[in-house]
Amino acid sequence: MKITRKQFMKTATLAAAVPFLPSLVRLSEAQVKSKNSATSETSTQIHVKTVELRLKHAWTLSRNTSTLKNNVFVRLEREGISAWGEAAPNVRYDETVDSTLNTIQQARPIFERESWWHFAQISDQVAATIHHDSCAKAALNIALYDWVAKKLGVPLYQMLGLDPTKTPVTTFSIGIDTPEIMQQKVREAGEFPVLKIKVGLKDDEEIIRAIRKVSSKPLRVDANEGWKSKEEAVKKINWMATQGIEFVEQPMPASMIEETRWVRERVKLPLIADEAVLSAADIPKLVGAFDGINIKLMKAGGIHEALRMIELARAFHLKIMLGCMIESSVGITAAAHLSPLVDYADLDGNLLISNDPFKGVRVRNGKLILPKRPGLGVTGSV
Ligand code: MG
Repeated sequence: MKITRKQFMKTATLAAAVPFLPSLVRLSEAQVKSKNSATSETSTQIHVKTVELRLKHAWTLSRNTSTLKNNVFVRLEREGISAWGEAAPNVRYDETVDSTLNTIQQARPIFERESWWHFAQISDQVAATIHHDSCAKAALNIALYDWVAKKLGVPLYQMLGLDPTKTPVTTFSIGIDTPEIMQQKVREAGEFPVLKIKVGLKDDEEIIRAIRKVSSKPLRVDANEGWKSKEEAVKKINWMATQGIEFVEQPMPASMIEETRWVRERVKLPLIADEAVLSAADIPKLVGAFDGINIKLMKAGGIHEALRMIELARAFHLKIMLGCMIESSVGITAAAHLSPLVDYADLDGNLLISNDPFKGVRVRNGKLILPKRPGLGVTGSV
């Protein structure tokens, strides 16, 4: 029997998807528990809690300003082991706390019925079933990896076959503010050998000049899609090249890939994609337009997809940065465990908040120091 390509794709999608989906149930913010087994030994509990994280400084990018961030924490429990995950909903990707809670609820049956030793297949099953709120998938996926590594009694980096001494230094990010306050933030970041400067709103040259008055450190610049024309981007990037800038992240809107390709032919600084690359499927179309990609667990939907992105980016000879949203030490530590695989780290989201409920990865003179405890190795609770 011959089948058409369309029929083949439909069959393949159905085979990858779970046989049924629960109706969307709106979660309350209170803990949600479920038990799918008669014995406490194998009972599964999925706790979900939203926590308000407070930023030390108002956080301004080219697109918005925030002083608070509501993140959703997940705790998976089975066989006496408790594991943590975190979701940082981001308006840029149409994610809210409510949509994140709903997506976690949608994925719940998969976690209730599957063996967590099949963590790679669970990750693929979740990805095939749910196509939105990647931060919710990230929370569940991080917790799943934490659980498996704890069960094995090894730190996550060891489960992944990585040398913890090979972590890169992380940049410290300076959000947009008045030149005086940005200079103050640069002074406060004394420990970090490389800084990432947010631009793309206004007065980019004034900001860089002000920072250069107080620091001669290498700088990386993130325009967060702020430059709207290719001519403006070329002009700004070529000026940045005279100021000791290492590379420029996402100069133009994510959709303007062809324009970015045009820009890249006219500038010397490397260009790194961030908003233009969410998961592995986005990578091939960026080749030639960018020199590297910024992978974030929240965009990718967790560790499983982030690892796939690292492999694919390497195959295309792209540089790799590991970045983050505003996250507590749960999300940041999870990403830090992958960092021996990448060229650059921008894992400072936990350092920008004043009430981190967890402790995990530490930073010494900019270098990421991974915890040696099993799993993510984070301590704390919400
Ligand atoms: Mg960025």
